[in-house]
Amino acid sequence: MNQAVHLTSLSPIEIINFVEELGEPTFRGRQLFAALHRRRLSSFDEMTDLPKDLRATLAERAIVSTLTVESRYIAADGTRRYLMKTHDNHPVETVFIPEERRDTICFSSQSGCPLQCSFCLTAKLGLLRTLTAGEIVEQIIIALNDAYGIGVKTPRGTNLVAMGAGEPFLAFEPLMKALRMMAEAEGLHIVPNRVTVSTAGIVPRIRELATTPDRPHLAISLAAPTDELRDVLMPINKKWPLRELLAACKEFESSLKPGERFTFEYVMLDGVNDTDEHARQLANLLNRHSLQRVKVNLIPHNPADSLPYRPSPEERVQSFKAILESKGINAFVRRPRGRDIYAACGQLAARRDVATIGANAAALYQLS
Ligand code: SAH
Repeated sequence: MNQAVHLTSLSPIEIINFVEELGEPTFRGRQLFAALHRRRLSSFDEMTDLPKDLRATLAERAIVSTLTVESRYIAADGTRRYLMKTHDNHPVETVFIPEERRDTICFSSQSGCPLQCSFCLTAKLGLLRTLTAGEIVEQIIIALNDAYGIGVKTPRGTNLVAMGAGEPFLAFEPLMKALRMMAEAEGLHIVPNRVTVSTAGIVPRIRELATTPDRPHLAISLAAPTDELRDVLMPINKKWPLRELLAACKEFESSLKPGERFTFEYVMLDGVNDTDEHARQLANLLNRHSLQRVKVNLIPHNPADSLPYRPSPEERVQSFKAILESKGINAFVRRPRGRDIYAACGQLAARRDVATIGANAAALYQLS
């Protein structure tokens, strides 16, 4: 990339400053922001409300998008996975999940991931780099345009989850900037109340989020009820063990709005963390820290050849759930989405070989 300004990275104020430096009035900045975010246009030619000479200057000095879509994979259940690459050639993956009530877009905060969770395929990539705010927003624009048409508003709104590749709390600044931009009424208008950020447990950022106004909802990946097991499954636990993590969660709980809850995600690994004893330990852990406004999402493991785990059988998951509920903890089982195209939780690893996996023939479309 040359020194062109990446417009999708700029907040409304930054865009206004940019056009003012070009000698244009403030309202041109607002028009440009709306063209990029509300109308979701990707070429200056289409921004016909801007004067021609301004469009020509923009084409010289700036670029709209830096991500390119390499492939789009469509699962049997309608889930779509976009495999994109950055200008410096790193993979970025985004998943569009159609749902009855409201569709969800799952976006990535990093290319690859530095955390070495033993059950997650993304970990195999290592960290390639953290994404910019603009690269985060672009993922959502690309998915929205593909799902609904360019600039077409979804009638039901869209939920966002920062549950793709990477650790969002190690991309805190670009993530928060992206969320602020996406909340703009003159832009995508996806407010923080429609967004959930998932963390492997970066404790200082959980505390920081608790005091952040207009913040998204929070989910925490737990995967184990004891330090002994969590150290093995999620090595980040050695830095911030369960006692510290749950103390930060308690603090976060006291910042919840009326009716709001937060979530623990618990990936269920056959014979590893899914016994009745683990369920009792988990319930006792949450009750000991008197966490009340919390729910547990049980996620059967999404397998892959290079991961040494199998998903817990259905009756195990149900028994685990029943034990949590008997101890007063709300628990839900998450249905896997897009497993056949490597789009489900923990499966994002820039896989290109989906046409060959599973019985569900996944459709592969090359986008131009
Ligand atoms: N790094 C953040 C964001 C990723 S969210 C985090 O850890 O929270 C991805 C979710 O999928 C996490 O809850 C993770 O524990 C879970 N996960 C990872 N690999 C998985 C797999 N193979 N099957 C099911 N869930 C998995």
